[in-house]
Amino acid sequence: MEKGCLFCQISHGETSTELLFENDTLVVFKDIHPAAPVHLLIVPKQHIRSINDLQDADRPILAEMLLVARDMAAQSGVATSGYRLFVNVERGGGQVIFHLHLHLIGGWK
Ligand code: AMP
Ligand code: ZN
Repeated sequence: MEKGCLFCQISHGETSTELLFENDTLVVFKDIHPAAPVHLLIVPKQHIRSINDLQDADRPILAEMLLVARDMAAQSGVATSGYRLFVNVERGGGQVIFHLHLHLIGGWK
């Protein structure tokens, strides 16, 4: 855990944020400022600052993030209609929380 990191705290159950899914590797919760009717964040428990900081050994984490995104899309009812997955990288890429996370947005009419 990284001291003072919000997503470390959330992913380790240290806040009141409701976790929609949790396993050994990651958690999923709703974005507090949703950019779409469905806006979820898929967040590894391990503190990794951004895509730039990924190590080869982190491959299983990335695979898990995508497979859980697939499952959460289905559970949220957007799998068939379609959705978008994205990662913001560093300030210029729009990242404001420096703990790796995958956005899942969808549910537009
Ligand atoms: P990014 O710009 O990729 O770093 O995205 C960070 C996201 O975290 C933004 O969409 C915020 O709305 C969201 N966020 C910030 N604080 C919280 C929180 N306490 N609970 C849920 N989502 C949050
Ligand atoms: Zn962190």
